[in-house]
Amino acid sequence: MTLEIGPWRLESVHGGRFWSDGGAMFGVVPRALWSRRVQPDEKNRIPSRCHCLLAQDGTHTVLIDTGYGPKCSPRMKELFSLEEGNPLLESLSQKGVEPEQITHVVLTHLHFDHAGGGTLRREDGSLVPTFPKARYVVQKAEWQVATSGAPELAGAYPQENLTPLEQHGVLELIDGPLEYLPGLWLFPTGGHTQGHQLVLISSGDQGALYPADICPSSAHLPTMWCMAFDTEVVVTRRVKHHWLTLAAQRGWWVIWDHDPQQAAARIRTDAKSEFVVTEHRSEV
Ligand SMILES: [Zn+2]
Repeated sequence: MTLEIGPWRLESVHGGRFWSDGGAMFGVVPRALWSRRVQPDEKNRIPSRCHCLLAQDGTHTVLIDTGYGPKCSPRMKELFSLEEGNPLLESLSQKGVEPEQITHVVLTHLHFDHAGGGTLRREDGSLVPTFPKARYVVQKAEWQVATSGAPELAGAYPQENLTPLEQHGVLELIDGPLEYLPGLWLFPTGGHTQGHQLVLISSGDQGALYPADICPSSAHLPTMWCMAFDTEVVVTRRVKHHWLTLAAQRGWWVIWDHDPQQAAARIRTDAKSEFVVTEHRSEV
């Protein structure tokens, strides 16, 4: 998928397929309802994938989210049927982009399936940033929560994805909404995690919204259909409805981070279903 938004060229980058528990992906929504939209496997898992986003404006080469990366434990690989190798780097390479060319890595939040690909384990066991010349841009609130050591978040934030960023001096913490680069906006949302942010790329009346885990797939368009991982689900519902309404009104593309088929879609409001997809783009 490629979209042109003013000077920005946006391309979907494949950060890896995985299978995730259907109940975890749809929270309080009964299986009887979500399984009509998405067919689960015999382990009650549904297909998912990490769509990262490459945004280039001729000066900056920005990668938004990094997938789960190659460092996950054998147990994680089995549980989620993660892809072997490094799908993110392979996908970038196919687009002619080498890791050294990335100038910024924007992380919407620091869960493993978004931040994991940002670091690599070298053969000597040391951990290094995957994109050595990039600044890694994270909301300060997210970083603080992820590195707090809070026992209730054990497992949510593997520190091996985070410590190398600080150690190598590539981290840039921002605080609040910001036009980070011309036409590339970052908006804190909360909801999914306390410091979760979404990305809006806009130029004139064109726009592309990357809501990340506030609305991870086209199956998550209804306000109440949110992931069980959300730390404050009522915030996700509110924020999601707000941004999807804007996207529908203004004809923005919505880029999904976990949809197994669609990479991006345009939507409209609908009296019965709240939002419906009017057109979509697939991965290639
Ligand atoms: Zn995610």
